[in-house]
Amino acid sequence: MKTAQRTLRISNTLSGKKEIFTPLHEGLVGMYVCGPTVYNNVHLGNCRTFTSFDIIYRYLLHLGYRVRYVRNITDVGHLTDDGEDRMAQGARLHKLEPMEVAQRYTLDFHEVMRMLNNLPPSIEPRATGHIPEQIEMVQRILERGYAYERNGSVYFNVRKFIAENPGIYGRLSGRVVEELIAESRENLKGQEEKDHPADFALWMKARPGDLMIWKSPWSVGFPGWHLECSVMSTKYLGQTFDIHGGGGDLKFPHHENEIAQNYGACGCSPARYWIHTNMLQLNGAKMSKSEGNFITPEQLFTGTSSLLSKAYSPMVLRYYFLQAHYASVLDMTEEGLRAAEKAYNKMMETNQLLQSLPVNTATYDGSESAHDRAILRHIEAAYEGMDDDFNTAIALAHLNELCSYVHKIAHRQIPLDDVSPWVIERLKTFFRAFLFDIFGLRDERQHANGNHLVEGLMALILDIRAAARAQKDWNTSDKIRDALAALGIALKDGKDGTTWTRL
Ligand code: AMP
Ligand code: ZN
Repeated sequence: MKTAQRTLRISNTLSGKKEIFTPLHEGLVGMYVCGPTVYNNVHLGNCRTFTSFDIIYRYLLHLGYRVRYVRNITDVGHLTDDGEDRMAQGARLHKLEPMEVAQRYTLDFHEVMRMLNNLPPSIEPRATGHIPEQIEMVQRILERGYAYERNGSVYFNVRKFIAENPGIYGRLSGRVVEELIAESRENLKGQEEKDHPADFALWMKARPGDLMIWKSPWSVGFPGWHLECSVMSTKYLGQTFDIHGGGGDLKFPHHENEIAQNYGACGCSPARYWIHTNMLQLNGAKMSKSEGNFITPEQLFTGTSSLLSKAYSPMVLRYYFLQAHYASVLDMTEEGLRAAEKAYNKMMETNQLLQSLPVNTATYDGSESAHDRAILRHIEAAYEGMDDDFNTAIALAHLNELCSYVHKIAHRQIPLDDVSPWVIERLKTFFRAFLFDIFGLRDERQHANGNHLVEGLMALILDIRAAARAQKDWNTSDKIRDALAALGIALKDGKDGTTWTRL
């Protein structure tokens, strides 16, 4: 699949419109996604966002783009409402070194991503590994007049930025700046020195007891939370790059402030397309650690959540996510998980059935039947679903339509001769590509009984043997049959192809 063959449309949160995606450099995509704050275990809401971006990444790769996917690790500088760094707060709660906290939860995060089959990003930079670059950016913003120093801390001057750069601040989150400024009446605790409550910290002077601190020209302290993403995205992707993503709850203040910082430092917007995922809800409210309204992946996979009656596997969760478009709200219910489990198992069984369908090349007469055309239409429609802002719900619906065809063909309700062999081959490749490469699913049933490799190898061997038989190469065909018999596998040649059993 070459990039030029398909037109991709993305709902750009910055413009509020669905736009045709054209990367800055042909064939290359730079994508930055805000990663986790590693002071705690991730919950299923975080998993939804990271899985959504994994599918976006996988689809871009499938279309043939070379993608540099940067997803950071926030290991410093995320202030809580009472002004304390979340990492340090976590460290105090757990009586650990802050870096021990970061390490523990980074490992947990990676393990969860691995279980969910999310591909690792191309670069996973850490905020603490980019302190000199963050100090440099603060210097640039100060030089350009959009920040001021107060007692060793540096703050971004929001009102000045708005006055000199109309139409930028508030655009992403759709906030009216006057309201936004009026709303921010009180300064955050420990930041009473700011000129205006809407201003935000670029650098914070350390207070006694602060654990994660570095030297800077202004004080010994630590960077503000929003700064790391401005710095690390532009360091690895350039001042302006293609896609910036994150959960919708990050639009304000995090992403608005990020954009302001980038403009403040270089006079340009960082990303051309902003993608925001919608929230996973539980009991009708956003799944959130701070509100205590959450389920962790571990609780889900082991069945230890008091909110659920049993365990659900990582691939069932992934399938559950796939059933909704990333931009729609998804409310987690046990009923929904059960339905996803059933649908996922059915999909995997159908795919196995499809992959084992014999391809009867001998009867291929080169014509295209009505069934052929219907199958090809669904395949194209699944691609169109993905092209239309990565709509996995639409794509999955077409795969389900195709599942009925597979069952009808396998159970002879549609005679095998009514579907062209090349269409069956196309269907097999399409299912493998969508299920495993794009949707990132794994067949957990096959992994569980250890048959995955054997099934794959047998399908390959039988394909080679069918091709030999079509060429009337009986020598090769018999050689394969005898060699398999010696390994304890019997072949049975029938009208519709060959099946195998263990002796
Ligand atoms: P955090 O570690 O809190 O910075 O969150 C990591 C990512 O998960 C961010 O992109 C958040 O927007 C996202 N996120 C947090 N809660 C949810 C939720 N309930 N549903 C979907 N994404 C979420
Ligand atoms: Zn970020």
